[in-house]
Amino acid sequence: MAMAQNFDVIVIGGGPGGYIAAIRAAQLGFSTACVDDWSRADGKPAPGGTCTNVGCIPSKALLQSSEHYEHAGHAFAAHGIDVKGLSIDVGRMLARKEKVVAQNNDGILYLFKRNKVTFFHGLGAFVGKDGDAWKIVVTGPGAATLAAKHVIVATGSKPRALPGVATDNDRVLDNEGALAIPDVPARLGVVGAGVIGLEMGSVWRRLGAKVTVLEALPAFLGVADEAIAKEALKVFARQALAIELGVKITKVAVTKSNVTVDYTDAAGAAKKATFDRLIVSIGRVPHTAGLGADTVGLALDPRGFVTVDEACKTNLPNVWAIGDVVRGPMLAHKAEEEGVAVAERIAGQHGHVDFNTVPWVIYTSPEIAWVGQTEQQLKAAGVAYRAGSFPFIANGRARALGDTTGFVKMLADAKTDRILGVHIIGPMASELISEAVVAMEFGASSEDLARICHAHPSLSEATKEAALAVDKRTLNL
Ligand SMILES: Cc1cc2nc3c(=O)[nH]c(=O)nc-3n(C[C@H](O)[C@H](O)[C@H](O)COP(=O)(O)OP(=O)(O)OC[C@H]3O[C@@H](n4cnc5c(N)ncnc54)[C@H](O)[C@@H]3O)c2cc1C
Repeated sequence: MAMAQNFDVIVIGGGPGGYIAAIRAAQLGFSTACVDDWSRADGKPAPGGTCTNVGCIPSKALLQSSEHYEHAGHAFAAHGIDVKGLSIDVGRMLARKEKVVAQNNDGILYLFKRNKVTFFHGLGAFVGKDGDAWKIVVTGPGAATLAAKHVIVATGSKPRALPGVATDNDRVLDNEGALAIPDVPARLGVVGAGVIGLEMGSVWRRLGAKVTVLEALPAFLGVADEAIAKEALKVFARQALAIELGVKITKVAVTKSNVTVDYTDAAGAAKKATFDRLIVSIGRVPHTAGLGADTVGLALDPRGFVTVDEACKTNLPNVWAIGDVVRGPMLAHKAEEEGVAVAERIAGQHGHVDFNTVPWVIYTSPEIAWVGQTEQQLKAAGVAYRAGSFPFIANGRARALGDTTGFVKMLADAKTDRILGVHIIGPMASELISEAVVAMEFGASSEDLARICHAHPSLSEATKEAALAVDKRTLNL
């Protein structure tokens, strides 16, 4: 075996968990390597993982393009702006998305250089141990043998396929295919009404596709607060995003030009629907193929996740795991927080991730965002709480924007008034939620938020009013 290049820390995987962990480790003075196997079409490295290449970033690029198109077609007229001959060039839209992705890939390579992280392009695998150093072999363009005392596994996740249905990314698409449909399909099917299904369905609906979402669960957006989920279902129905709940798929037949899905609806009636393309977004599974987990006895749980404790320690000494490949929400910012915390723990510091203040966002229109507990969770736990809501229709900035759908809902402990959860459906919910996260991190009460001066006119005043509503004293409703 070739002489190993020695590092203090090796990170396997360069997604948001891995690349952030590598940067933080380097900042803390460790000689650090990051290994990632994702390539661009021309073979160049594409660090950033699922998030940058086929997840968060490209989906938000397409959501932005499709929102502009929808606004130009439906919202501009009310502002006195007439658009004639409106059309969408899907090829150009996709090329812009690719450019945004490449800018992010390049940005990460630049950050590695700036922080003195050594990057290896290829697949990293455990091959054994030499003293207290783990040996990692990289195969691919950046082939090398590496050794380090600490290894952080950040190998992420991959899409779950429908059992018995091959993903060809032509007619049957996973997230990668859903982000690269070359023309607007007349009829688009989406299996799974989770975050990815709703976002992808929204993109193509705005561009003119007739979208049908088939969801197995009987409840819509069961993870969200019930009031938010109810409002979202109403709004999506108004947008003609057809959502069928309680569906059981019995057969999927794929031809060269379409996909036919046989299913039973919630009442058990047999149904059949034919689509030009079908997006399968039924969740993601941990990705450990090629990692050499077996070689060194890295423990995986029955669902394939790397087993970790609350500090992200695996069963092997000085081997850590973070992000989508371990338990917890599959979110880029959760992966990043774990990456920072692990690097700091390696340095003997007290890295900390509070799962209760990890925000969730769905970038549909209106956006949906929340942090903390839902009302149904508080009820189930028998917690006494007070709730306050404020609708965007009563917010001046939302009226000026012409986007008054939705509301902010706040839940606070009945005795202490400490904020337990904040749930938003409405314009810029993804940005508004940060105030709630900060408040909860600092253990704020609803009265604290209600007494803070908020700029006028701003959407954030709806959050302040929701806090006032907890005490039944809104000023603008
Ligand atoms: C369509 C879509 C939209 C999404 N939108 C959002 C969003 O808006 N906000 C949000 O928070 N989350 C979003 N997510 C989820 C988010 O992308 C993931 O939670 C996040 O990417 C997880 O980061 P990670 O670092 O754990 O893994 P990943 O991003 O999956 O990165 C893992 C990397 O490791 C590489 N790798 C795997 N094995 C090896 C190996 N043995 N050697 C070398 N390299 C290896 C992989 O190729 C990959 O590059 C979205 C996901 C999808 C699919």
